[in-house]
Amino acid sequence: MDDYRTHVEINLGAIRRNAETIKTFTGKRLIAVVKADAYGHGVGPVAKTLRGVANMFAVATVEEGIKLRQAGIQKPILVLFSSLPEQASQVVEHGLVPTIGDSEFANRLNSAASNTVNIHVNINTGMNRSGVHWTEAVQFLSRLKTLDRLTVKGLFTHLATADEQDKSYVFVQIERFASVLEEIPNDVELVHVANSAATLTVPESHFSAVRPGLALYGIYPASERPITLEPALRWKTRIGWIGSLSDGEGVSYGLTYKAPHQTRVAMVQVGYGDGYPRALSNVGEVLIGGARRPIIGRVCMDVSVVRLEPTDSVSVGDEVVLIGKQGDTEITVDELAHRAGTISYEILTQIGTRVPRIFKH
Ligand SMILES: *Cc1c(COP(=O)(O)O)cnc(C)c1O
Repeated sequence: MDDYRTHVEINLGAIRRNAETIKTFTGKRLIAVVKADAYGHGVGPVAKTLRGVANMFAVATVEEGIKLRQAGIQKPILVLFSSLPEQASQVVEHGLVPTIGDSEFANRLNSAASNTVNIHVNINTGMNRSGVHWTEAVQFLSRLKTLDRLTVKGLFTHLATADEQDKSYVFVQIERFASVLEEIPNDVELVHVANSAATLTVPESHFSAVRPGLALYGIYPASERPITLEPALRWKTRIGWIGSLSDGEGVSYGLTYKAPHQTRVAMVQVGYGDGYPRALSNVGEVLIGGARRPIIGRVCMDVSVVRLEPTDSVSVGDEVVLIGKQGDTEITVDELAHRAGTISYEILTQIGTRVPRIFKH
């Protein structure tokens, strides 16, 4: 038995197999998105696992890129969002591949560099949160040629609605992107558009590389499932206390749950301070002894309370599963997200630093 109050178990083999499955399915190069600590899975071990499969890694910020370099990753690292002008020298120093979305950063970078710097250019085709507007992209790219230290190695755009059933706006964005490609020399190494949803469901978006995040971790962004992915994360805790409520007695802050009759309860050692959503108060479920048991009352910062059945044979210290399988029963990230009124991405990235990541190879 492990010594953790709560921990997540990361199956690195599953992440590697998911990446291989995606590469085989698309037949394209793989830019593995490992931003936000690899969606909460732990970026160092995840990136090391994917070194042999991914052609490039992508992170959100310069700081995340530096962290990957410090973890010993030598593969190209794309920083997806425009960096601050003051970060140009860090980009150069750590050999990161910045995303260019405006001329100011391009100028700063060109001055900070003493050798060639590889860059990717982000074209805004309708996500409207970053990048050069698609109608100005051709001119922007030709002006970039005057900055002699910058080499455009990649062109990309990001889709706003790839996880929806209706793909019409996806095709509007792809056409805008393709209209830019038609006007420029065909010498850019990596042309990439597809996030996980488009990787799985829109082959027209694959171009020369795909750029999935969520799918690497074995989670589907939408209901379509053309390939089989394995969830890589299990979140566990343990029973910390067992008690009983008499008829009409309340539980936890605000006494929002009242026992309808004599009820056995267990405190489980996880709370919103660990990233277990407070929105699961009175609506969450956990697995104990292979069966679902409901969260009753409010989720606290450090602990939560669940209702036991009279026949449950449990002791303090027993394993409780919050995400993943226990016996034949499973709580998926999607189920938890749905119950908490959010999305799987948010559940994963909110799992706190207080929760150790334990890696299985
Ligand atoms: C986060 C992100 C991705 C990956 O998205 P998923 O839905 O997790 O596959 C790809 N591209 C950009 C620009 C992103 O910000």
